[in-house]
Amino acid sequence: MEKKPFVTLDKAREIAEKIPTPFHVYDEKGIVENVKAVYEAFSWNKGYREFFAVKATPNPFLMKLLAKFGCGMDCSSMAELVLSEACDITGEGIMFSSNDTPDEEFEYCAKLGGIINLDDITHIDDVLRILGSMPKTMSCRFNPGGIYEAANGIMDNPGDAKYGMTKEQLFEAYKRLKELGVERFGLHAFLISNTTSNDYYPALAKTLFELAVEIKDKLGIELSFINLSGGVGIPYKPDDTPNDIRIIGEGVHRVFDEVLVPAGLSDVAIYTEMGRFMMGPYGALITKAIHEKHTYKEYIGVDACAANLMRPAMYGAYHHITVLGKENAPCDHTYDVTGSLCENNDKFAVDRKLPKIEKNDILFIHDAGAHGFAMGYNYNGRLRSAEVLLHEDGSFEVIRRAETLKDYFSTFDCFDEFKGKLLK
Ligand SMILES: *Cc1c(COP(=O)(O)O)cnc(C)c1O
Repeated sequence: MEKKPFVTLDKAREIAEKIPTPFHVYDEKGIVENVKAVYEAFSWNKGYREFFAVKATPNPFLMKLLAKFGCGMDCSSMAELVLSEACDITGEGIMFSSNDTPDEEFEYCAKLGGIINLDDITHIDDVLRILGSMPKTMSCRFNPGGIYEAANGIMDNPGDAKYGMTKEQLFEAYKRLKELGVERFGLHAFLISNTTSNDYYPALAKTLFELAVEIKDKLGIELSFINLSGGVGIPYKPDDTPNDIRIIGEGVHRVFDEVLVPAGLSDVAIYTEMGRFMMGPYGALITKAIHEKHTYKEYIGVDACAANLMRPAMYGAYHHITVLGKENAPCDHTYDVTGSLCENNDKFAVDRKLPKIEKNDILFIHDAGAHGFAMGYNYNGRLRSAEVLLHEDGSFEVIRRAETLKDYFSTFDCFDEFKGKLLK
């Protein structure tokens, strides 16, 4: 699929006059159309709800935008719980799918009335000790182990993943939870990341639906919801095939009718916890070319670095780049596009075919809307950039200011000797 930037050179320049590059920009129109399509695709299921995976893009403006369309929030840390609370998303609008969870986070989640999605059977005792009794609604995370294969050759290795319970533990956990007074139960699994196949959710749904039937038969427990979690991917590369959420929703519907309905479980609500699919394509990192270097290779140095978008450095992930204003120019140059970190993996692209780039050209780095800003860090004293929301009417709004040196040094505020020097 051809990758088109959602801002023009003129718009990027207009924003850059107020907010210096680099910055992250989000496309409200794209986000809204997508969340509507997601709800439409699952509209056959009465209780359907998407819980946005906050870790992908932890910005309250974007969280509130999604919440307007009915989304809850999937949290896994104190900060994410507090963010949801600040957006007035509490109660069963919170899915707490954490792992290796500190006591105070279970406690805070319960205080907000969020749904605890237990990662492990031993956490039952932790929750009891911390809360004194079990919440009425509880969910359990399943890990089938081994290699999990959905159709079309997409597979992953849950046997190697730290998340979730074995099947035996899962049954034991539901039994105990019931004895402890839990009344509403959920089931969750996240088995493959960034799938580019419409078959992943239906295959996972079949696994979980069959398990739900077994849980009903063996334990007499009728699940209230089944959470298909995240893993629906996006086309990072121009030749990747995009997922079609409508086909995915129909696929899950078919399995629902095949497995759950005949077992008398037609009231089960389907939940999803997508992050990347909700936000990834609708965010971009905007950066300016500030240097060109000709040594053993051709380099373009930009003013962003891996601290603004870590995925290429961390996993060699591909992020498409468009040189704004040169959308139709021939890609007849080969560049490494680099940031400034003193790490040789700080490259947004390696041996990438691009149009000839001049200093001050503005680059649009695609698909940075999920795990982009969110993975930001301060290595080499680099500061996190601003986030900007481009509204449907073409106006824009800063939804997070850029960090300043003062922010960077603020954790030294307890040392009088540095106050005058660092925090001026
Ligand atoms: C990261 C995460 C998600 C979202 O995954 P995506 O692949 O971004 O959709 C959902 N649930 C849990 C528990 C996660 O850790």
